[in-house]
Amino acid sequence: MIPVSEPWIGEAEEKYLLDAFRSGWISSAGAYIDKFEREWARHCGRKHGISVSNGTTALEAAVAALELPVGSEIIVPSFTIISCAQAIIRNGLMPIYIDSDPKIWGMDVTKLESLVSSSTRAIMVVHIYGHPVDMDVVLDVAKRRDLKIIEDAAEVHGARYKGRICGGFGDLSTFSFYANKIICTGEGGMVVTDDDELARRLRSYRNLCFREDRRFLHTELGHNYRFTNLQAAIGLAQVEKIEQALKRKEWMGGLYNELLREVKDLELPPRTDWADNVYWVYGLVLGDSYPFDATALAESLKQKGIQTRPFFLGMHEQPALKAFTSPGRTFPVTERLSRRGLYLPSGLTITEDQVRASADALKAALRELSGR
Ligand SMILES: *Cc1c(COP(=O)(O)O)cnc(C)c1O
Repeated sequence: MIPVSEPWIGEAEEKYLLDAFRSGWISSAGAYIDKFEREWARHCGRKHGISVSNGTTALEAAVAALELPVGSEIIVPSFTIISCAQAIIRNGLMPIYIDSDPKIWGMDVTKLESLVSSSTRAIMVVHIYGHPVDMDVVLDVAKRRDLKIIEDAAEVHGARYKGRICGGFGDLSTFSFYANKIICTGEGGMVVTDDDELARRLRSYRNLCFREDRRFLHTELGHNYRFTNLQAAIGLAQVEKIEQALKRKEWMGGLYNELLREVKDLELPPRTDWADNVYWVYGLVLGDSYPFDATALAESLKQKGIQTRPFFLGMHEQPALKAFTSPGRTFPVTERLSRRGLYLPSGLTITEDQVRASADALKAALRELSGR
């Protein structure tokens, strides 16, 4: 079975990890934490990096740090991971879903302004599957309507929008370093920001809001969302090779594009002239002429030894979020993507033979399922 993704970790990671281990600093203090936070913030062109336990807690802490009034609304994509909606809800706020752009799969920025109400306080932008959202529109709406931006850049490490790096756009920008992300630390996450006060609140919130002046006196409630020095050691080695990682992704995406370009009625990952696609995953969307959906395609590929993953299922279709979904609204693009989309093996360890085998299997599966 060709796996959908495997972490790209090697000697440098092992060396730093062992060094952290031998230093005795195995919890959430230590030199690697400081270095990793500094290096990742620098990579994103930001003043502060606040590491946390994962990408989900990064989002939750970011929303908390804004200290928005009860009843506030935050606009968030319907087509994303549940971490995004959950971060809003766990903070007692209301998610307002926005449908996807059919071309780039991320949020449809042309619908943004019509969703802003008198209760809207922020936009949670999520770049999807390696391709950035059209940020100029988001920045413009946010500025005119006085909204904060939380940018979830978990799926676009190192990607650029009009030359500017993703993770550089939000009042707060968040990352996950889960094993399948481009930069990985096993589990892990980070919030980056240029705002000193937001950074201070985040550092406090991730560590139970311990006060500096009087230990064990708490004037606010936080969480234990701390990251560890061991994971930061892996992360530092990863950041040091991000340019190589991005080159590998570019090569892989290019090869798949070349092999699949001729397949009719098959949507390949978005490419625009205003942003990079870093091919976090290599996604596909079946055109309407195919009389089967992505589930059937995934099953056929599995039988051919190719592991895939389905696309997200919309937030408006989640039973757990029923109370946070207005029944009247529809999300046709999200529904189409979730039923017609999947992604192929596309991790950083993939070989040329594996890309070719995956592309061949895909073509064969499409033929067989179409009865040709
Ligand atoms: C992976 C991911 C997360 C969640 O990160 P975890 O580290 O798994 O908690 C959040 N947002 C997006 C867009 C992701 O892809």
